[in-house]
Amino acid sequence: MKQFTKSFTQQESIPEAGIEAAVEVMRSGRLHRYNTLPDEKSETDLLELEFAEYQGVPYVLACSSGGYALHIAMRAAGVKAGDKVLCNAFTLAPVPGAIHNSGAVPVLVDVAEDYCIDLDDLERKAAESGAKYFMLSHMRGHLADMDRIMAICERYGLFLIEDCAHTMGATWNGRKSGTFGDVACFSMQTYKHINSGEGGFLTTRHPNVMARAIMHSGSYMLFERHFAAPPTEAFEQIRYETPNYSGRMDNLRAAILRPQLADLDTQCERWNARYRILEAAFNSSDKIRIPARPEKEGFVASSIQFSLPNFSAEQIQDVLKRCGERGVILKWFGDDVPRDYTSRYDSWRYIEEMPQLPKTEKVLSTLLDMRIPLTFTEEDCALIGEIIVEVVDS
Ligand SMILES: *Cc1c(COP(=O)(O)O)cnc(C)c1O
Repeated sequence: MKQFTKSFTQQESIPEAGIEAAVEVMRSGRLHRYNTLPDEKSETDLLELEFAEYQGVPYVLACSSGGYALHIAMRAAGVKAGDKVLCNAFTLAPVPGAIHNSGAVPVLVDVAEDYCIDLDDLERKAAESGAKYFMLSHMRGHLADMDRIMAICERYGLFLIEDCAHTMGATWNGRKSGTFGDVACFSMQTYKHINSGEGGFLTTRHPNVMARAIMHSGSYMLFERHFAAPPTEAFEQIRYETPNYSGRMDNLRAAILRPQLADLDTQCERWNARYRILEAAFNSSDKIRIPARPEKEGFVASSIQFSLPNFSAEQIQDVLKRCGERGVILKWFGDDVPRDYTSRYDSWRYIEEMPQLPKTEKVLSTLLDMRIPLTFTEEDCALIGEIIVEVVDS
């Protein structure tokens, strides 16, 4: 029996240019983002400017993590204690955590069969809850119909925060993910699309939101030292009203990120080539369901999801076990016990008034997930696909 032997958690090395730039920062001793010489832009400043250009947005703030960006995004948007925030029931724990951290209350919206947020449930809950904020996770890189999402936001006056932790580099109808909403947040945690261990971006086109976000991030009164930022006037009142929740990016991590950002589009193509190989293998089995990706979706497949719709919990556990024995590590979103990165909504027990979401439970009960690190070759992906299909079909 064929066996796979590589690690599912091994990312590629940091590009040599990033290592050299990081060493340069360490030699200089100027690791703090505001520790610059006269007329010097720090690595963090340059990173923000480069990401603003990449996204085609005016304002970018680099900060300490994706979850931190989500938290200050809500604060900067004016979320108050007790406010309701619509969000996906199928997302990762930092999302409801960030909502909780701003004192707000998540209103969980169902997942649909295509693994995106359920747009009918969204529409219903937007109408019923009276929520004015919507934190949309493009969970595992799946972009919902953004045309319809924007129509719903318009109809109910929703302030949209896009969680782009899995869609850095992705597009909908040719337009970058993260440029639809009022604010977008990204993560540079090791398993996302660019890797500095930890890190986050917050982007927006609203000057007042960015001014507050910069103050929140711990800029002291050094806001004039931000370049992908609104002019000084935007800070006039805001600087007195906005608490400092320290969570800055530093020059060492920015130095590591800049060459990766320059390579991002190439990396996205490499992910997708691997995805298409796995997808073709899964489509060869009658027992595996893998939703076709919409024409308008320019996705970035740093992971792959598929369902075993006719399998019981015991059968799925058996598939996980037998794949694992052959070196293929799958995650399951239907497990009763939260493991690894797969906690299900009902394990976030701090949420008051937890809803019953039978549809979400049904979809998640047969949903499997696999990371696609770029240390896997296309041949590796063919082998993994073969192993999974063999295990599922036998
Ligand atoms: C990783 C992730 C985040 C938050 O990122 P961190 O940088 O780990 O705080 C938010 N949402 C989703 C869907 C994620 O996967």
